[in-house]
Amino acid sequence: MNIIILGPQGSGKGTQADLLEHKFGLNHIETGKILRKIAESESPLANEIRDTMNSGKLVSDDILDEVLKEYMNKNVYSGFLFDGTPRNMDQYDLIKNILIKKGEKIDKVILVDISEEETIKRLSSRRTCKQCGKVYNILTNPPPNDLCECGGDLFQREDDTNEAIKKRLATYHKDTEKVLEQAEKDGLLLKFNGEQPIEKIHEEILEKLGV
Ligand code: AMP
Repeated sequence: MNIIILGPQGSGKGTQADLLEHKFGLNHIETGKILRKIAESESPLANEIRDTMNSGKLVSDDILDEVLKEYMNKNVYSGFLFDGTPRNMDQYDLIKNILIKKGEKIDKVILVDISEEETIKRLSSRRTCKQCGKVYNILTNPPPNDLCECGGDLFQREDDTNEAIKKRLATYHKDTEKVLEQAEKDGLLLKFNGEQPIEKIHEEILEKLGV
């Protein structure tokens, strides 16, 4: 089974993806996380990725193409869960084509949707652990004693500033919504209200997936 999970920034798609990864043993491909890891190193490529991400723009399709191909060919195939990719139609076609070469296809596209107001509220209160990467929300899911449960310090992502959030949302409306329209035409789209409790959304997803 190959699933794409999309939604505006802060919709909770990563949380739902984690639950699906554990339920079905899928290879969870979270491009934002992979790119953030590369951006921690020191090289011209890492610097370019870091600058692009911090400004709230998308990295180029060429870089994403490399990252996806390497990641998808490295892992033993047990079904993929694409989290935060594809963000535009070129990336949608890229994923389709890589899967076709493996004799596979996209089975479902899940949209976890929230309002723009909710995105801004959630992202400005999001904090991430420097050590283990766990994500908290200081309003709705605060960390114990201002530190992560693993003891690591928390930080606010540079692309979670108001200006970068607005840029990321604009790209979502301009490019990613085209992917959602295409997925709907392809009969693959399943939509969920991301402003419900995490467990409720997970149950609805399992129900609509028919498992
Ligand atoms: P995310 O963690 O999904 O919010 O992604 C953080 C940043 O990583 C984005 O703002 C982009 O700069 C970059 N990124 C993640 N996924 C993609 C993608 N599929 N295509 C281009 N850039 C991406």
